[in-house]
Amino acid sequence: MATPISHECSQAHRNGVPLRRKDVFFVESPKALERIEYTVYSVELETCYTHYINGRTFPCYEDHSLCEGGHTEMNIRWKGYFLGFSDKRQEPVFCQLTLDAGNQLMDQLADKTNLRGLKIAVGRSKKNNGRMSCRLVETHRTLDTYKLPPVVPARRSLFNLWKLAYTDFPFTRLLDRPEDAEIRLREVS
Ligand SMILES: [Zn+2]
Repeated sequence: MATPISHECSQAHRNGVPLRRKDVFFVESPKALERIEYTVYSVELETCYTHYINGRTFPCYEDHSLCEGGHTEMNIRWKGYFLGFSDKRQEPVFCQLTLDAGNQLMDQLADKTNLRGLKIAVGRSKKNNGRMSCRLVETHRTLDTYKLPPVVPARRSLFNLWKLAYTDFPFTRLLDRPEDAEIRLREVS
């Protein structure tokens, strides 16, 4: 069954400008050879699995009968997100990480339980879909984290990014997937 696309959502990213809801932010990844620096607001990475079908992304639901085009592991992708201030857009955005980049980040953290207040640089190799890198810019928090803006969940921003009508259905759980064993994350809820 095709997922309906609401008029509101289909307009949401026109000219790259997200809908002005307080809980909907632009979702960003570096393009080829770009390096973007973030001041992180999120405490943890939020993660979810998505299906990539004909150039579009759809969430993988716990109830696989809801997965667009039917559930298959062939086109499934891990995504990680943190909210932070982007030095490219000069505003708060959700940064979207690949599994490689998420694992790189976790490997560099002394305190894997709290990202808030860290400065992180996310880069991309020569192609727009090329390898993503993620580096801690400073090894310790230099900011007073209580002065940073509050964190909102990624879910509404993701539906806006995917140009899908918002749903509350639970996304697929991660813990049964072995490649996540090394990474401490919070699922998009
Ligand atoms: Zn699925």
